Amino acid sequence: SIPVIYFVTPTYARSVQMAELTRLGQTLSSVPSLHWILVEDAPRCNPAVGQLLRRLAIPFTHLASAMPSAYKKLKIPPRGVSNRRAALQWIRSNIKQGVLYFGDDDNSYDLRLFDEIRDTRNISMFPVGLVGEYAVSAPVVHDGKVVGFYDSWPARRRFAVDMAGFAVNIKLLHQFPNATFIYKAGFEEDSFLQEIVTDANFIEAKAANCTQILVWHTRTVQVPMAMLQPPTLRIADTSI
Ligand code: UDP
Ligand code: MN
Repeated sequence: SIPVIYFVTPTYARSVQMAELTRLGQTLSSVPSLHWILVEDAPRCNPAVGQLLRRLAIPFTHLASAMPSAYKKLKIPPRGVSNRRAALQWIRSNIKQGVLYFGDDDNSYDLRLFDEIRDTRNISMFPVGLVGEYAVSAPVVHDGKVVGFYDSWPARRRFAVDMAGFAVNIKLLHQFPNATFIYKAGFEEDSFLQEIVTDANFIEAKAANCTQILVWHTRTVQVPMAMLQPPTLRIADTSI
């Protein structure tokens, strides 16, 4: 049997949330042997989100874990950290084997990505399109090995990769039970990877030696919430 991909998505309530989750959910419906772990940044699960999950008819786990209020006051809050941490905890308590991937709700995924990450033996890495000033964040590969990172924001990170640019074999979560994400915007990936990558030779370069883009860091323009509830419905702003 093929390994199950555990696809972890942090999500939060805003005007475009249902649109994002519908699009992502319908992408994931086309992927065999996938379990969606959707974690809301909220004190409890939203029933409307639960309804969407049941309609999609794919295996899922619906969790909620709110960002601690102290972090909300920061100029750049660590987005999605509390919810991703909750997913790590759930996987460690319930799952022994499979492949873990962190897929945000607003990214765009080529279905070929799932074929690439499914056979991740330890850690796999691959390019992410539309990240930063270079419009791509990608491992640099030499002789089939990952030797560095092409990323417009190195920030002295050892692993200058985007959240969508790596997958992990779940055995590593058990091997390193304390590996987690720190609450520091921009350094979440590096903090987690530094814990589990003991030897850079273990990194598997995917997507044709990291020459293909199979996932994009797209971002959706926010619609102000007020516009969703017009105070009055005006029939004839323009006449024909
Ligand atoms: N997110 C969240 N809580 C927040 C802000 C974001 O759970 O307060 C989620 C969001 O739904 C997404 C991920 O965290 O899946 C990354 O957030 P976002 O896409 O806003 O960050 P960006 O991609 O712009 O860095
Ligand atoms: Mn995003």
